[in-house]
Amino acid sequence: MKSDRTKKLQKLDKALVWHPFTQMKEWAAGDTLIIEKGQGNYLIDTDGRRYLDGVASLWVNVHGHRKKEIDKAIVSQLGKLAHSTLLGLGNTPSIELAERLVKIVPKGLNRVFFSDNGSTAVEIALKMAFQYWEQKGFEGKRKFVAFTGAYHGDTFGSMSVGEIDIFVKKYRPLLFSAFRAPYPYCYRCPVGKDRSDCKTECLKAFEDILKKHSGEIAACIIEPMLQGAAGMIVSPPGFLKKVRSLTKKYGVLLIADEVATGFGRTGKMFACEVEGVVPDFLCLAKGITGGYMPLAATLTTDKVYRAFLGKYEEYRSFFHGHTYTGNPLGCAAALANLDIFENERVIEGLEPKVELFKKLLQRFEGLAHVGEVRQIGLVAGIELVKDKKTKEPFPAKSRVGYRACLRMRDSGVILRPLGDVVVIMPPLSIKESELKKIVEAAYKGIKEITEKP
Ligand SMILES: *Cc1c(COP(=O)(O)O)cnc(C)c1O
Repeated sequence: MKSDRTKKLQKLDKALVWHPFTQMKEWAAGDTLIIEKGQGNYLIDTDGRRYLDGVASLWVNVHGHRKKEIDKAIVSQLGKLAHSTLLGLGNTPSIELAERLVKIVPKGLNRVFFSDNGSTAVEIALKMAFQYWEQKGFEGKRKFVAFTGAYHGDTFGSMSVGEIDIFVKKYRPLLFSAFRAPYPYCYRCPVGKDRSDCKTECLKAFEDILKKHSGEIAACIIEPMLQGAAGMIVSPPGFLKKVRSLTKKYGVLLIADEVATGFGRTGKMFACEVEGVVPDFLCLAKGITGGYMPLAATLTTDKVYRAFLGKYEEYRSFFHGHTYTGNPLGCAAALANLDIFENERVIEGLEPKVELFKKLLQRFEGLAHVGEVRQIGLVAGIELVKDKKTKEPFPAKSRVGYRACLRMRDSGVILRPLGDVVVIMPPLSIKESELKKIVEAAYKGIKEITEKP
């Protein structure tokens, strides 16, 4: 039963709060869920009902909610300082965090620029790459090459390199243009190959762009190993490594957007490690604080950094900075997050969970409307299609992915789809029994919604 308090909150929410990426007409007509507490891998609503947090509070939560060590670190930092600016001053936690980050990221990325969300982490990398070439005397290198289906955030720069039509189409007239290379969405291969005869031929188009236009291109931006918002699309072995070697060959900087993949999601601390790649820029956000505070970081090399040095009046500084850059509470949470990774040997402990996850997911292939199941580490995308043979999608208005996820709430599991791709992305702290429960709820929800006569 719903309490009067819940009803009142629902009403106020509908009257006042504009939700992101949401058709508010549908929201206002629906039965909305309001979360009040978290505990471990569960979210708890205003009436005390518990739900497994199957998408890690939109890909950010790492060690569960109310994690003692992170709670404590924030409270302890609060006893010293909540915020002080990095413009003209240093602060303790940001220095300590920079030192820790440099130690764990791919070698050579030893300059850390803080901001407060994934989109800004990307904007910063784009601006730095652009300004780098300009200050090195290559004014012609002003463009970017990005991939089909890319998602890099919602600000104008990050939208410009993004390519999910329903997100960016409306704003296209305001965006700068980028070169676009095909991403290996292998289920619908851009060059008509099969997995069995794939030699990453899709890279030819990428190399052609570099060959022809490298004199105009500042950087390439990629979501390494896993395109998130495009529908959890995992790149085939060797793809990322070849992108790195081609960008090197043609003198184009590489920006790795690990906003979603960073901090253990793919089974390694960073997705770049899966293929031993070192980018020129690494963008981090989402999991950096364990899902606690808005914090982001853009890391780059000394080589890039040095191009920004000079006399004050030469104006070679990096002209960028957000008010909450390097926020001490966020940095304290991030430090505690990294401590937990170390103390609980989180990465080492992932393997059996990932193996179980893989096994549990096999069943879905048997469902009448599951086109493909994609998985890497502790993330999976289950693509629902109207016709498995032709891969024809369901019509958008039938809202199949959305309805399947709503159904899962009856089983006490919160998932959120990307179109008709059902996403499972629990906190890394998910227990095996909880993982089974999430997958079971997803199976049931998908079956009931897609096979209903
Ligand atoms: C979420 C995401 C972003 C944007 O991060 P925000 O914090 O939402 O601005 C950028 N890139 C990738 C790959 C993401 O998944």
